[in-house]
Amino acid sequence: MLPDIDVVTRDDLMRLITRYRLKPVKRLSQHFVVDPAVIRDIVEHVPSGSRVLEVGTGIGILTYYLARVASQVITIEIDGRLVRIAEHVLGGLSNVSVIQGDALRVPWPNTDVVVSNVPYSITSPLIMRIIKEGVPRALLTIQREVANRLASEPGGDDYGRLSIITQCNYSVGILSTYAPDSFYPSPEVYSSLVIMTKKEPCYRDMRILESVTNLLFRHRNRVLRWVLSKYLGPNAVNAVINAGIDVNARVRQLGINELVRIADSLRPFINHYGNH
Ligand code: SAM
Repeated sequence: MLPDIDVVTRDDLMRLITRYRLKPVKRLSQHFVVDPAVIRDIVEHVPSGSRVLEVGTGIGILTYYLARVASQVITIEIDGRLVRIAEHVLGGLSNVSVIQGDALRVPWPNTDVVVSNVPYSITSPLIMRIIKEGVPRALLTIQREVANRLASEPGGDDYGRLSIITQCNYSVGILSTYAPDSFYPSPEVYSSLVIMTKKEPCYRDMRILESVTNLLFRHRNRVLRWVLSKYLGPNAVNAVINAGIDVNARVRQLGINELVRIADSLRPFINHYGNH
């Protein structure tokens, strides 16, 4: 049994982790949370009584504190060794189920909030799955650079496909940033806690918006006219001009509203192009 969230210390968490003499696997991003502030920041944004899906249980520290505010926590862990440890740590909590599996593949239950100290290697596919599943809220601790990309505005160095598809479906905020020693063993990077809150999608056909964004952002520093001519031809350039878009703008400067108008005007061309 862990101490209450208000009083738990880094030493308490380190003691629990080292007790199991586990050899962390780098490939699975096994960096366990030891900074109580990270746990407090996450738990504070989980509405009381909500159904939580956690990705990457680890030894179950965050899970334990989530279970105190949530009505139900379903937590998925790929490493069987950790599943057994987590079941031991969480034993006796009737509102927690630990599932062994790959969180990108196993079916997800209906859930109000996805929470994860995200294994780095699955960051982008996990975010894409959250969007596809339409989860109402996500609280994710991810690499600081990726967090900046998610929240980036048009024109910025970090602005790209991930920012656009995410911001089309979610409001994105960065709540806090943590030094590497918030996790054990320490990763090489800083981490940021991101909150994603579902909103009305900016466009009804995500497939077209994704195709257009993928195509254009192959050449983020080129002007729109150049990219359209190269891949789709002069009729596509005209269709975009007719939609009132400045085709001399650089791709990285296009805001989401402009991309939506471009996607709409390129519909006939992209359907064809989609076969490539
Ligand atoms: N939640 C724990 C914590 O905060 O201490 C662990 C976080 S650790 C950064 C990420 C965890 O995700 C590891 O336990 C790792 O084994 C697990 N993991 C990695 N890839 C996974 C996948 N595809 N599906 C489910 N779990 C995965």
